[in-house]
Amino acid sequence: MPDYSLAPEGSHFIDGAYVEDPAGAEITVIFPATGEVIARLHSATAPIVDAAVESAQRAQWIWAEMAPVDRGRVLLRAAELIRARNDALSELETYDTGKPIQETLVADATSGADSLEFFGGLIAADTGQYIPLGGGDFAFTKREPLGVCLGIGAWNYPTQIACWKAAPALAGGNAMVFKPSETTPLCALKIAEIFVEAGAPKGLFNVVQGYGDVGGMLVGHPAIDKVSLTGSVPTGRKVAGAAAGALKHVTMELGGKSPLIVFEDADIESAIGAAMLGNFYSSGQICSNGTRVFVHEAVHDRFVARLKERTESIRIGDPRDPEVQYGPMVTEAQMQIALDYVAIGQSEGAILQTGGARVVPEDAADGFFVSPAVFTAVTDDMRIAREEIFGPVMSVLKFATEDEVVARANATEFGLAAGVFTQDITRAHRVIDALEAGTCWINTYNLTPVQMPFGGIKASGFGRENSAAALDHYTQLKSVYVASGPVESPY
Ligand code: NAD
Repeated sequence: MPDYSLAPEGSHFIDGAYVEDPAGAEITVIFPATGEVIARLHSATAPIVDAAVESAQRAQWIWAEMAPVDRGRVLLRAAELIRARNDALSELETYDTGKPIQETLVADATSGADSLEFFGGLIAADTGQYIPLGGGDFAFTKREPLGVCLGIGAWNYPTQIACWKAAPALAGGNAMVFKPSETTPLCALKIAEIFVEAGAPKGLFNVVQGYGDVGGMLVGHPAIDKVSLTGSVPTGRKVAGAAAGALKHVTMELGGKSPLIVFEDADIESAIGAAMLGNFYSSGQICSNGTRVFVHEAVHDRFVARLKERTESIRIGDPRDPEVQYGPMVTEAQMQIALDYVAIGQSEGAILQTGGARVVPEDAADGFFVSPAVFTAVTDDMRIAREEIFGPVMSVLKFATEDEVVARANATEFGLAAGVFTQDITRAHRVIDALEAGTCWINTYNLTPVQMPFGGIKASGFGRENSAAALDHYTQLKSVYVASGPVESPY
């Protein structure tokens, strides 16, 4: 059993304490590897939403008065606590999401700590500009917080999403109300506890549970100044629309159907490894996945043969087993979506090389497992090549020329990520320049260090997480003109 009790003391964490309102709709939390119910929570009611926002407002006034270096120290202390508890937090994340413990130990709480360290260290050095204007006059600029920011999370990386939003928001002097996905609501509560323990004012990071309607209530709350959503494009349209009406700031981290292009001179083993990581890590439930793998015709058959062989050796099973490399889908519904897309791919005439079936591992027979699927003979018009599946379904597409592959890669409404594998450095840069995507990789895929901005263009969203660029999205600039002489007036 994990170090943390799976059922929290209360559904929500507000003003430094767990709170409950049983009048809210029930949220059932299920361990995807066994189908067992591990916690029962309640979606927030209007009084819970109001309490969370009001408490955040009070905390924000205290927090914004503190010196940035002192705010940074709190974030650094929170990062330290997260690292010290990585084993327990990773275990909880595995229960919440079904992701293998070998992934959660290295990719979830630790990446949350990375962002708290980055922004905790950065904020004191983030000073304004001095602008000389002649005659003794000058202007200066200062960054000011927006106020209370709302974070809304997707279910695939609950700890990481909470921290990636909280770290720049809090560093910038804001408070945050965070609404996790109703599918994976447990981990953000632990992060809220840690902020209080690290010395943040009570209420600075509140967690409110709920379905989409609670998200909507929060977006519409007049005391929310900014909304940062990680979710699907349809949800993004609704949330951005609602926020626009009240002229609130928004960051949208939405879906994708990203291209990964493998040229004939690529290191094929590395390209296959990247394609597998970029389609099967977290059972394919990653927004930036390179789900359209374009392979040059000269190396296509060799690529597919080795890809199939390596894919079939992936170890599937109970995600709590440290040897297991691949876990279940997050819910039965998500499993069904992936299986449906496999059937659609087959009916469209693509060739299923391997996987794409429900798996019943001996140690987790009731879990929501789908074996990693590789399709070949995929054409651009097929639904499996156009729609975000958010599951372990890779489409391999053959190409002949650089111009052709760039045009085909860009022929999508999405623009989250893109990758290219080639030994030709000039071509690598030329192709990346031509690709319409916010986050790109050359000779690797899906690495997202905190120093590097992350986010999409086109329907994949706007705003950036990580890097100094994220601070721009959680602060506003004030410019101040300082005069040194008398005011000359014609009146
Ligand atoms: P989703 O859009 O169904 O839900 C995301 C969040 O929005 C949930 O917390 C949900 O409760 C909330 N929500 C739903 N309707 C709402 C409304 N009307 N108002 C306010 N909030 C509302 O997405 P999901 O199924 O949880 O996650 C999968 C999607 O997230 C995929 O499309 C994936 O690509 C995307 N994603 C993007 C990134 C990124 O950084 N770009 C990262 C992870 C996931």
